Amino acid sequence: MCEECHDSARPACARGVIPLGVVRCEPCWNRLANELAEIDGATAPPWPDPDPESVDRIEPEGCPGCGMEVRTMPTNYDRWVHLSTISMRAKEVPCRYRWRVETRPARHSAYPVAMIAVRVSGLDSLPDDMVIPAHTVECQHPAAMAEVEAAWRADRARQAWLPPSVEEFEDDE
Ligand SMILES: [Zn+2]
Ligand SMILES: [Zn+2]
Repeated sequence: MCEECHDSARPACARGVIPLGVVRCEPCWNRLANELAEIDGATAPPWPDPDPESVDRIEPEGCPGCGMEVRTMPTNYDRWVHLSTISMRAKEVPCRYRWRVETRPARHSAYPVAMIAVRVSGLDSLPDDMVIPAHTVECQHPAAMAEVEAAWRADRARQAWLPPSVEEFEDDE
């Protein structure tokens, strides 16, 4: 039964390719997934034509803001994110734009595996670890550039709260 609305008339199931530990009906899951997407910035539209026969599921396509090539990846909660086609060191990417791609056995799918984008938490990555930046980091659209500026400012503000051992890494730029 859905843990949110407890409405036994609505079919509910466990959510997340990597199990999120939540059981939700469809409407409640949609709401939660939208919240998660908002936090992560995973608001890209899905592939225009998801072809179930295609194995080439991460074919590059263009960013609607700047036309640069991006990888449109599904997240763990049925939303989509534009990732860069290249990897970068974590310290070159503001925290909120750090992602990695995980390959997982897929549930509810004919595919043996699913590739999903997972946001890397600040504590999970050392400054020299390679991460996949959200496309926003390299996007030439003015709105994206302003967003990245703000993210750097937020990171610098947060740095004041980090323990000294972590701060050390951040200082060597
Ligand atoms: Zn519900
Ligand atoms: Zn762009």
